[in-house]
Amino acid sequence: MAELRALVAVKRVIDYAVKIRVKPDRTGVVTDGVKHSMNPFCEIAVEEAVRLKEKKLVKEVIAVSCGPAQCQETIRTALAMGADRGIHVEVPAPEAERLGPLQVARVLAKLAEKEKVDLVLLGKQAIDDDCNQTGQMTAGLLDWPQGTFASQVTLEGDKVKVEREVDGGMETVRLKLPAVVTADLRLNEPRYATLPNIMKAKKKKIEVVKAGEIGRI
Ligand code: AMP
Repeated sequence: MAELRALVAVKRVIDYAVKIRVKPDRTGVVTDGVKHSMNPFCEIAVEEAVRLKEKKLVKEVIAVSCGPAQCQETIRTALAMGADRGIHVEVPAPEAERLGPLQVARVLAKLAEKEKVDLVLLGKQAIDDDCNQTGQMTAGLLDWPQGTFASQVTLEGDKVKVEREVDGGMETVRLKLPAVVTADLRLNEPRYATLPNIMKAKKKKIEVVKAGEIGRI
């Protein structure tokens, strides 16, 4: 039953291998001329969505990123990994610095409803702010069930089974779709985008919407 649609949230962050430098005036960290990449946990979320599509359990994978124009590079990476199309929620650079989990969760909740998706996949946390809140808030705003820190995801009819890593070991939850799932490190090993797929991804569509058009953020 490949009728399901998945929305995957991908955040552009300073690359994990970069040595972070604090600005001399201590107002933040230096971002100019610094390598940025997709948040590693978001790569895992994209990989999972693409695998579900390859198993023909999901028919469309939509990658969404909120932030300045460069977020489109992050979306392109998701498209090269196998996502079908992208949505860039444009937030200009000065305002983007103030984007927190609640603002992003509001955007994701609105898009999940508008795009009529069955599954929202996110990373368990972003490696820049380490908040670990966006997935939980998105589920709360939508009033959908959530499976956080997933290390295994199995679609079972109108439910998704999530094996999740908790302090005491593993927990298994079965969530009725639509649902929100956040990816932990051991869920999978994300693929590298191959050159032919990077080329193909250039032809895939990225819709650009202004954050204000989606509603209050
Ligand atoms: P956080 O709650 O900030 O640790 O982020 C957890 C997850 O929320 C990330 O791995 C992304 O999947 C998603 N997320 C957070 N910020 C953004 C953003 N600006 N654009 C797209 N997705 C985001």
